[in-house]
Amino acid sequence: MKINSPAVVTPPAPPPPAAGLRSGRLDWRELIEWLRVDGIISADEAQRTVRRFATADSIQHPLVRLGNAGLSQASSGKPLDLEMLTEWLAKRLKMPYQRIDPLKVDVGRVAEVMSINYAEARRALPLSIGTTEITIATSEPMDRRWVPEIEAHTRKTVKLVIASPVELQRYTTEFYSLAKSVRAAQKSGEAASSVNFEQLVELGKSNRPLDANDQGVVQVVDWLWQYAFDQRASDIHLEPRRDLGVIRFRIDGVLHTVYQLPMGVLNAMTARIKLLGRMDVVERRRPQDGRIKTRGPGTSTMKGDEVEMRLSTLPTAFGEKMVMRIFDPDTTVKSLDALGFGAHDAKRWSDLTSRANGIILVTGPTGSGKTTTLYSTLKRLATDEVNVCTIEDPIEMIEPAFNQTQVQPNLDLGFAEGVRSLMRQDPDIIMVGEIRDLETAEMAIQAALTGHLVFSTLHTNDSASAITRLIDLGVPPYLISATVIGVLAQRLVRTLCVACKQSDDTTTLDALHEVIAPWRLSGSFRPYKPVGCLECRMTGYRGRAGLYELLALNEAARAVVHPVPDMVKLRQIAATDGLKPLRMAGVMKVAEGVTTLEEVLRSTPVWE
Ligand SMILES: [Zn+2]
Repeated sequence: MKINSPAVVTPPAPPPPAAGLRSGRLDWRELIEWLRVDGIISADEAQRTVRRFATADSIQHPLVRLGNAGLSQASSGKPLDLEMLTEWLAKRLKMPYQRIDPLKVDVGRVAEVMSINYAEARRALPLSIGTTEITIATSEPMDRRWVPEIEAHTRKTVKLVIASPVELQRYTTEFYSLAKSVRAAQKSGEAASSVNFEQLVELGKSNRPLDANDQGVVQVVDWLWQYAFDQRASDIHLEPRRDLGVIRFRIDGVLHTVYQLPMGVLNAMTARIKLLGRMDVVERRRPQDGRIKTRGPGTSTMKGDEVEMRLSTLPTAFGEKMVMRIFDPDTTVKSLDALGFGAHDAKRWSDLTSRANGIILVTGPTGSGKTTTLYSTLKRLATDEVNVCTIEDPIEMIEPAFNQTQVQPNLDLGFAEGVRSLMRQDPDIIMVGEIRDLETAEMAIQAALTGHLVFSTLHTNDSASAITRLIDLGVPPYLISATVIGVLAQRLVRTLCVACKQSDDTTTLDALHEVIAPWRLSGSFRPYKPVGCLECRMTGYRGRAGLYELLALNEAARAVVHPVPDMVKLRQIAATDGLKPLRMAGVMKVAEGVTTLEEVLRSTPVWE
């Protein structure tokens, strides 16, 4: 070694690639050539595919692209899918092919080997850590320049296995999120030792029945909640299947499978949650309901607030299924702005809800945010001078400013009886959870006619259909015209993830105008498209926003409800009066770059 040589840092020499092969990323041209040489696809098909692929660039992994290309095997004519392609490549490179089994991965330790950014950039994911060897899955088997780095860092030998690029990407997101949650749970001090899934799984496989108070079970239930809060889940499903248990989360309205585990573990978790929810742990053949209040971990988005969950069990063919609905603690404190009301509708809604009497209906399918809107509105109205009474099924959030009553069908306390009793409680404002029958509708009308402001919900597609629904229930049009002062239809759309969304030049102003004709957009026009990152679990969306369509029944509108109901005219009059249809509200959010046209078309009805 020369003493005066300039300080040049030489990277460690990369290990030789598999015999006779270059080093680097996979290339689709090369893969097609290999498929042809190996006789997997015909020369014809190879040529066709090269011509097709050459016309456009793709950011897809070449194996994924080939798997989607509709290729068929030359020998059998059978379709060639991603899994077969991955297996073939593994054989060709003389490397093991491995399907990733989440139960076998030491989730708590993957992050010790490499960071998420490192893993994503190299398309690699550590699967297991032995005393001398680490098994790492990759979907870029010929790119091994990073291997010496990891070997030096961990002082272990790296064993590379090939995994499907789709599985690899999915589990990378999953495991790093999970590892983060587990670390956070450890830091919060509750879980002294790490949640080792291997141990837990072993526990589940042994014949020893698991107890609801077992330390492992206690920890994994804590982990489950931590993970659910971190992922902003609204519901947790624990589902028994034939051979194993499945945990799914509903996030931004969509279910995601997050874990599969032995039935023994799932049953023990269900038992522990029932115990905490003061439900009958022994009873497994009848449906049960319960509630739990738990403190959100300080590290999560819920910042140590109390989190309330509604529990529900149901016997199924393979055992007891449990669903936990997580109530958002922010529910009652949202301003109209935070709910997603534009300035125009916020003003109209405030005007309507400050009236002394009448019926205001909120409509939309289940999960469209009706309860949040109602709670937020009532909370603003519930001053010291006003008595706000509710009759609900169920009470989704306890609000000290209201007098809340739960419907109890077994005690003959339905919505209609509930309103009847509330009327004797000297109320000013009444909220009836839902109008499902004529009797409840009549009670609501009675209350409105005697000087009360009544809020309720209906399941209808848009605002004007609420009037039709009341007529269908048997309410005479003159009573509707005399009492209903406004109908708010609403939907929730997923909002684009701000961490990864990108400018979208394929959505044109013309395309938006076509969707909302005869309305037109004014103001800014900057559409964005979803991409996908760890923040949003690769979905491109994070969080939801409300869309609103507010029908205020003025004099002219009332005249087309009674004596002859005419919904077409009602919609025309409402539009002149300032109503913006749901789809218009959505398209405005597309133009602002908050959501996408696809999302709006999926969740809003056509304006008739
Ligand atoms: Zn994102």
